[in-house]
Amino acid sequence: NRTIVVAELPSDALTPEHFSMQEGDMPAPSDGEVLLRTILMSIDAANRSWMKGATYRDAVNAGDPMPTYAIYEVMESRSPRLSKGDIVAAEAIWADYTTCPAQKAQKLPDMRPLSNLMSVYGIAGKTAFHGLVGVGRPMAGETVLVSAAAGSVGGYVGQIAKALGCRVVGVAGGPEKCAWVVDTLGFDACVDYRDPKMFKALKAACPDGVDVYFDNVGGAVLETALFLMNERGRVVCCGAISQYDTAAPTGPRNLPGLVVVKRLRMEGFIVMDFAREDATALRALRTWVENGQIKVFEDIVEGLENAPSALIGLLSGDNKGKRMVRVGPD
Ligand code: NDP
Repeated sequence: NRTIVVAELPSDALTPEHFSMQEGDMPAPSDGEVLLRTILMSIDAANRSWMKGATYRDAVNAGDPMPTYAIYEVMESRSPRLSKGDIVAAEAIWADYTTCPAQKAQKLPDMRPLSNLMSVYGIAGKTAFHGLVGVGRPMAGETVLVSAAAGSVGGYVGQIAKALGCRVVGVAGGPEKCAWVVDTLGFDACVDYRDPKMFKALKAACPDGVDVYFDNVGGAVLETALFLMNERGRVVCCGAISQYDTAAPTGPRNLPGLVVVKRLRMEGFIVMDFAREDATALRALRTWVENGQIKVFEDIVEGLENAPSALIGLLSGDNKGKRMVRVGPD
């Protein structure tokens, strides 16, 4: 059984040397536990932020296996709650096989492809829905701006906002990604944040200002977006990926001034806060997928051994849509 461990914590950008692969025996479940075979592991920007210290969960330290949210098959059960062959989701580790208390594994619906349960019907789709609808509360006709627009959360945010009748503008890295966001995801416009004229380009793309900014990145893009916000606009603080993989994070310089003057509401959220609304989110997402208003893009990297490079690549933007690693067949 292979497990990937964080060998050393990065002080600057993450590299493959920060990980090591360990070979060990097949784990054996204790009473109340299940033995799980890994099928798909979610690769999240958050993996990197956990290496910086405790957040809404414990910090990851040197020597720890990398934690992950993943989809598994139950190979052996020592609990009446689950049976051999069940497909479950659980928080476990980057490994071929793992054990976990049965009560911490959530049985998943029998649905194929399983990858959809990690993308549109998983954390990505739910984060996009809850953050936009529950926190941003856009109204039809308003302008919604979203960063990391070609990523998994951002891509759904924009498509949901379009389905709700908003004008949608994305921010993404590079002209090719921006063109994809407009042509394939159907955003009204998309601006390259690496372009030194980002402010001018965003201003032109948002002629009526911005009513809701869904912020996945923080830093310079947040600073720019704050200048474009309309009075009583809402800034949905979902994540700050520009700050995770660097020793020199930069923050917006216009806080709290612009929040005061423009009477903005800036509000952070964690997807789990809205667990009671999950059924509503999933119903809406399913309807939009079925009627073609939401397209599902998944970026699946093959092989457990490629998990470190999949995470490093995500942080530098080499993904489109929800990135995950396939460890074994559905
Ligand atoms: P994505 O699929 O969005 O991938 C991350 C993207 O971020 C990359 O593709 C890259 O695209 C972009 N990016 C990387 N560095 C920068 C930078 N310096 N400035 C601007 N963009 C950058 O990843 P996730 O969907 O996993 O995460 C998106 C955000 O959502 C993260 O901030 C994450 O922490 C947050 N999140 C929050 C949750 C919550 O409950 N609040 C739950 C899940 C995720 P590009 O090529 O455009 O640079």
